[in-house]
Amino acid sequence: MDRYRVKPGHKVRLDKHDPRDTRGWDGDKDEAKARFVALNARLEALQELLYAEGKHKVLIVLQAMDAAGKDSTIRRIFDGTNPQGVKVKSFKVPTEEERAHDYLWRVHPHTPGAGEIVIFNRSHYEDVLVVRVKGFAPKDRWSKRYEHIRAFEQLLADEGTTIIKIFLHISKDEQKERFEDRLEDPTKHWKFRRGDLEDRALWDDYMAAYEDALEKTSTKDAPWYVIPADRKWYRDWAITTLLVERLEALKMAFPPAEEGLEDVVVV
Ligand code: ADP
Repeated sequence: MDRYRVKPGHKVRLDKHDPRDTRGWDGDKDEAKARFVALNARLEALQELLYAEGKHKVLIVLQAMDAAGKDSTIRRIFDGTNPQGVKVKSFKVPTEEERAHDYLWRVHPHTPGAGEIVIFNRSHYEDVLVVRVKGFAPKDRWSKRYEHIRAFEQLLADEGTTIIKIFLHISKDEQKERFEDRLEDPTKHWKFRRGDLEDRALWDDYMAAYEDALEKTSTKDAPWYVIPADRKWYRDWAITTLLVERLEALKMAFPPAEEGLEDVVVV
């Protein structure tokens, strides 16, 4: 999955990344679904190991345009994992109390502890995305934030956090189809907000803001991955593969047994 990693210092042009790409895959869709199930079982086993070992901390940041599938990605990929060791934190419009503080204040308490995986559904990146595009803060405020974010994430990494940042890349056409589907299907009406259309009208501004954010904050210890997300089956397979690769690289092991355990008899 290294092909999707944004190399530090490289220019990002999202129009050069195909949201329908399936490059890592040479079989058909049904085969991918079957492989996804097997890979997912591997991910569950690795999460159990992470929890048992209680040593590593894993932070997954998920960012995307509306309807790119953040919620369903989380649901499908972490479906069978142990809820004790996996937490999801969604970042919404800041509350009055959050707005009264600096923008990282609400984020830090939710970073993972030892043995945990935390998934940020949106994140501190909103403060250089929506805030920039909608003009919620002046440029001289948000433009300094890339540096803060790099320093903040470096702090987490230096203290033992593995950081995996994922941008789910969908096309504007695919978003249109998914919005139309939400409007047609009464069980999906709740997912649609009128504000989503305002953001859609600002698509190009968002792409420019994402390009800047990806480019300026993809570092060796906190890399971004641009994952093609128009095809859900490929998205799920690619992200699971990425997570399995990154977790396997931690070379985890179950804690050793207590001394003399072989002599214990349960009566
Ligand atoms: P989601 O779209 O993630 O499923 P919502 O529909 O509740 O959830 O949308 C959350 C909204 O909160 C998004 O429009 C997002 O841009 C906004 N938001 C998140 N963080 C911030 C922030 N720091 N400042 C302003 N808006 C934010």
